[in-house]
Amino acid sequence: MLHSMADRTRTPHSARDTDRDPASRPTVLVVEDEPALLALLRYNLESEGYRVLEAKNGEEGLTLIRETKPDLVLLDWMLPELSGLEICRQIRRDPKTRNLPIVMLTARGEESDRVRGLDSGADDYIAKPFSPGELAARIRAVLRRIRPALAGETLIWGDLAMDLAAHRATRGGRELRLGPTEFRLLRHFLEHPGRVLSRDQLLDAVWGRDVEVEQRTVDVHIRRLRKALNGTAEHDIIRTVRSAGYSLEMRAE
Ligand code: CA
Repeated sequence: MLHSMADRTRTPHSARDTDRDPASRPTVLVVEDEPALLALLRYNLESEGYRVLEAKNGEEGLTLIRETKPDLVLLDWMLPELSGLEICRQIRRDPKTRNLPIVMLTARGEESDRVRGLDSGADDYIAKPFSPGELAARIRAVLRRIRPALAGETLIWGDLAMDLAAHRATRGGRELRLGPTEFRLLRHFLEHPGRVLSRDQLLDAVWGRDVEVEQRTVDVHIRRLRKALNGTAEHDIIRTVRSAGYSLEMRAE
């Protein structure tokens, strides 16, 4: 790990992030071999309220992704040994990391390079030099698209919308009638769309670690949530994964 100047000159987090528990901040893994740029990226991202992890090359990056499951990877194209493109392909090939948001960072600004970057599986692309504002906006946009809970107070995914402040949820504009437990369950699914969540993980997230609840209870509430979500014509978006748990999945229409 590289300890940069930015560690000692951290600014307070912006108002929107001060009430956020550090563990719940989105984590960005930066894979970049130039120390000065790495320090600058860390400084900018921390100012925006992200937790930052660093890797100086592809191997280190891939190991950290497996071990720490970051929310987004900011990946430099020009790296020694494994290139950013190759790392991107490897992340996309592995079923465990297939959905990990990737933003590529590069000095190449040519249209053909942009296309190559996006073809390799990157979600977005930032050409150097970039402004801190642009960096922040791109990352927010990718997170909002892929992990809505990390970017704002309204979670939107497919035809589902959840307004956290108003405590309302809709599907295709239809208001969902959810009990408090179903609301929390749906929120947790929306924060991890596409990911298989075990009954234990759902118990921890929705009921809390200190509460003694049987795993069967999860099934009961999932049944209620399904009933509320699935109305009549809509297809079932909660998938039961045998002996693993449940996941929120939407067919691409
Ligand atoms: Ca580089």
